[in-house]
Amino acid sequence: MKVSFPRMGTSWIGLKTLVEGLGQEVILAPPPTKRTLDLGTKYAPEFACLPFKVLLGSYLEAIELGADTIMSSGGVGPCRAGYYTQLQERILNEQLGHDVRVITFEPLNRNWRGTYRILRELVQVGFRDFITVAWLTWQKLLALDSIERESHRVRPLELEQGATSRITARAFARIDECQTVADVEQVMNDELKRLRALPQDPTRDPLQIGVIGEIYVVLEPFVNLDVVETLGHMGVFVDRAIFLTDWTKDNAILDAFRIEGEMNIKRAARPYLPEMIGGHGQNSIGDTILYAKRGFDGVVQLAPFTCIPEIVAKSIMPKVSADFDIPVLTLMLDEQTGKAGVSTRLEAFVDLLAMRRARLRGESA
Ligand code: SF4
Repeated sequence: MKVSFPRMGTSWIGLKTLVEGLGQEVILAPPPTKRTLDLGTKYAPEFACLPFKVLLGSYLEAIELGADTIMSSGGVGPCRAGYYTQLQERILNEQLGHDVRVITFEPLNRNWRGTYRILRELVQVGFRDFITVAWLTWQKLLALDSIERESHRVRPLELEQGATSRITARAFARIDECQTVADVEQVMNDELKRLRALPQDPTRDPLQIGVIGEIYVVLEPFVNLDVVETLGHMGVFVDRAIFLTDWTKDNAILDAFRIEGEMNIKRAARPYLPEMIGGHGQNSIGDTILYAKRGFDGVVQLAPFTCIPEIVAKSIMPKVSADFDIPVLTLMLDEQTGKAGVSTRLEAFVDLLAMRRARLRGESA
């Protein structure tokens, strides 16, 4: 099989290690670009949400490179992700005449038999090698998340703009090359040290902003138009509400044992949104409340245009924002959204938060 999978932030590094380690050939889709989005938009239904379009474009680019199998995840609950892959498979094969198989991994507790059947087909190595590569993949994902977290802390303090991003990109490339867990640990420690040693201005007191929203747009910088890096360069400390390893622990693993993950987030959201409405809608409410309680200056909600869970969350947000006295900026993202427009809105939001912080400190002084 020539297997490809969607890119979502740095997760491709772990997935590549995993699929190659299972004995399959990986066809890596190029990082998403405007061409990817144009391709997806051309063939997707008009009102499909942004992630659907980017993923469809990515699959087409992977097929151009020779992929014959696409691996993706499904979903449950009232969100369109549950039928994404079936629809994409029909567009690719019936509408566009390709001959590609789309494999969907559903949540373990809903269809563990299906997952087992897929794994039996994919795994071409012995049990021992399977466990080894699964562990290496997990360690890489953890290392990638650690580097990214540290970069969010350092970026607003850096003296040379761009230095943090340079080290981070290099760290990701080095982790991609690692062949053993010991290598991963070594590279992670090296690169964390390098990040911490960057010339910084410790006297800065950065604004603190939480970034929340739908998982794909939060994790993939191309789709969110580099919101996290842009805010960092504006001197803001960003706390991203979603990291892939946390999400996997909370949802895939706990869910398999029917234990509700992210309990604190859901508990916080319940007075405003008691139901799971699909995607990250309920989390967006809960995360905003938790950021307010942690004393954050503001929240940026990233929402794909036509994403029902985030639209529902957005409609509740003014009440949450008023009750917990935390400003929220919602960015609706679609194929028409441009980076300059987003940067301008972020700049205005950051100015507003800086004035608000000065006023609050002045009042309490
Ligand atoms: S959560 Fe929103 S953007 Fe994501 S698949 Fe569902 S509807 Fe689309």
